[in-house]
Amino acid sequence: MTADDLTRRLAALPRTPLAALPTPLEDAVRLREALGGPARCPRLLIKRDDLTALGLGGNKARKLEFLFGDAIAAGATSVITTGAVQSNHARMTAAAAVRCGLDVDLVLTAAEDTPPLDGNLLLDRLFGARIHVVPSVDPMLAVGHDEAVVVAVADGLRQRGGRPYVIPVGGSSAVGAIGYVAGTVELAAQLAAMGVEPQRLYYASGSRGTQAGLTLGRHLLGLSYELHGIAVSAGEAEKIERARRVAREAAARLDADDTVGGAAFLTHQDSIGDGYGVPTPQALEALLLVARTEALVLDLTYTAKAMGALIGHVRRGLIPPSDTVVFLHTGGSPATLTAAAAARLASAAGWQDLPR
Ligand SMILES: *Cc1c(COP(=O)(O)O)cnc(C)c1O
Repeated sequence: MTADDLTRRLAALPRTPLAALPTPLEDAVRLREALGGPARCPRLLIKRDDLTALGLGGNKARKLEFLFGDAIAAGATSVITTGAVQSNHARMTAAAAVRCGLDVDLVLTAAEDTPPLDGNLLLDRLFGARIHVVPSVDPMLAVGHDEAVVVAVADGLRQRGGRPYVIPVGGSSAVGAIGYVAGTVELAAQLAAMGVEPQRLYYASGSRGTQAGLTLGRHLLGLSYELHGIAVSAGEAEKIERARRVAREAAARLDADDTVGGAAFLTHQDSIGDGYGVPTPQALEALLLVARTEALVLDLTYTAKAMGALIGHVRRGLIPPSDTVVFLHTGGSPATLTAAAAARLASAAGWQDLPR
């Protein structure tokens, strides 16, 4: 399918402009130097989806444009979504609700009854979201037993005459995944304008909506790069099924071919460490290195694990230095501005007291 044809099909779907697009695509020259320069390290291009602007930005803005378009078309008066207590998706959903004049309820999974009010949770409060905390069950997975709370909140709203629209965790429905089909059209145009054909694209993979959209977009446009999703939480078998279903449903919405092979949905499993949101040594090192070479702010839950994997592949010589690699910076920097992340970084970097 041509990009023009796909663009026409995308334009027929309900969409609310929320993101600052296109996001920049930048050469990471100093990071490449730090990884051995052109003799050892491929050309690194960073797609700055941390700069989508909505409520401090991140990948969820692309999904939320289509999700809020769908919610508004359905006559919704409010939205409900779920996630971990430092969920970037929940924070950006709260920001989108403000921009659309809708109410928002967030059902957030946390280890503590009163989690620290910093990072994304502070922004949720700032954006006026109603917050419901549920206890977490398994750190290997991203979600807790939030379904019952979502149903109760939605029922309560309906009884008071509201029309809530429920957005699944990560915004990873077919509607949301369309955001990364559109994102692929955008990236392909930028690469064509630069005259670059990358061999690989690396990104952090959680609830799989980004993967479903990237994979479907690549398939429909016949692009040649390999997608390297870096899993940040466990449950690969079930998540592959979810990604396939979401991609198939998204293709149906676009009236497009959906014959993406199951192998296309495999992700790398060796960067998860002790589970969702638990930093690994590789992630801590990647976050510090990228901050000090490119002044980019990664996060320990998603983007630093993905970058840690890419750095590992470069160091092990798995990518020819003549290749070009795109790293999709999916955002998450507010989660780095938390006391918990600061403590982990201070201990990894050996920071003592501030100089007096
Ligand atoms: C949500 C998120 C991801 C993963 O996207 P999914 O579509 O859930 O797989 C990656 N990076 C950041 C910073 C995120 O917030």
